[in-house]
Amino acid sequence: MPSINRHLALFVGTLALTLGSAPAQSQPAQDGLQICLASLQAAALRSGVQPETYARLTTGLQADLTLLDKLNYQPEFKLPIWDYLSGLVDEERVSDGLAALRQHAEVLQRIAARFAVDPATVVAVWGVESNFGRLTGNYPLLQSLGTLSCFGRRQAYFQGEFYAALRILQRGDIAPERLNGSWAGAFGHTQFMPQTYERLAVDFDGDGRRDLVDNIDDALASTANFLHRGGWRSELPWGVEVRLPSGFDSRLGGRKNKRSLDDWVRSGLLLVNGSPLSESGLQGEKLGLLMLAGSNGPAFLTTRNFDVIYGYNAAESYALAIAHLADRLRGGGSFKTAWPTDDPGISRAERRELQTLLAARGHAIGDIDGVLGEKSRSAIKIEQERLGLPVNGRGGLKILQSLRGGR
Ligand code: CA
Repeated sequence: MPSINRHLALFVGTLALTLGSAPAQSQPAQDGLQICLASLQAAALRSGVQPETYARLTTGLQADLTLLDKLNYQPEFKLPIWDYLSGLVDEERVSDGLAALRQHAEVLQRIAARFAVDPATVVAVWGVESNFGRLTGNYPLLQSLGTLSCFGRRQAYFQGEFYAALRILQRGDIAPERLNGSWAGAFGHTQFMPQTYERLAVDFDGDGRRDLVDNIDDALASTANFLHRGGWRSELPWGVEVRLPSGFDSRLGGRKNKRSLDDWVRSGLLLVNGSPLSESGLQGEKLGLLMLAGSNGPAFLTTRNFDVIYGYNAAESYALAIAHLADRLRGGGSFKTAWPTDDPGISRAERRELQTLLAARGHAIGDIDGVLGEKSRSAIKIEQERLGLPVNGRGGLKILQSLRGGR
């Protein structure tokens, strides 16, 4: 193994110099992948993959080296929190979520009875993870996980997921051609990684297969099981929005910096409507204080249920999107405290409108899909420069309103 890894490291180093012009499916990449896969076979078999399965599913597997760029790029950590949330929790997703609650009401009730997780929370996870099954990812899982097992950072982690994907296909729960997902290997309605699938997926419709790709009952129940096994408590909210006193010491903040409700009362916190914290019903809980935009933005006391949601994807912004969407599905409103910006984020519908306006001004921005990617951001920069706005390529309300006004 070490010598193989050195070989691959040299190869990837050479490749990095030439990748600008070389095709992603170069012959050296294929040779490198096949050498690596041969070296991984023994470990795969030890993990429960049969020799026949390994041979059948890895022969001819193609490396996709474009994944290495994605491995080193994490957009959700670069977007301002208000942009992130305004795309994930917009009127469109609330409306789609309410429709999903109605359409799947019967199975969601049975899921709540078995796993003690409420329908709105389950549907909110579904909506944020895969836009209710519409965006489950098009990357063939074996190709992604095979590539990432052999190239780039975190190979040991991806090898574990690769072996799990092989075991899933070996059991026949999901057909190989249906096992597609995100570039990093999360798949299906719930976007579980293969090892999470093995631990937590459930066959809720009783057909003998745990199918998170083509069976919504299995997917929703598996999401509820994930939260249930993570320690979800059905009687608790995920948290409450609070008002901080002026001069608040923001060093007390942090999701993991747990204090009792009485401690937070002594620090001067109130519910966001000005009522005392005692009305929150959170006596006896250990509570963190979430402030994703500092002490001038929305602030929340969070319970262990928020930490359970956080466990789904290990990002606080992401967990807040799910928690907030669940509240909206229960009839709640937007946060009371504004984000500290004079240029608020915009919804997916507004992003599509912005793209349409950019296209009308002659910019080649590709599909009008509500995703502000590189082409959209380049066009926004040109327009920001023309309009005398700060040039940052960000699609917010200011640039939208300027272009709407025909400026
Ligand atoms: Ca099933």
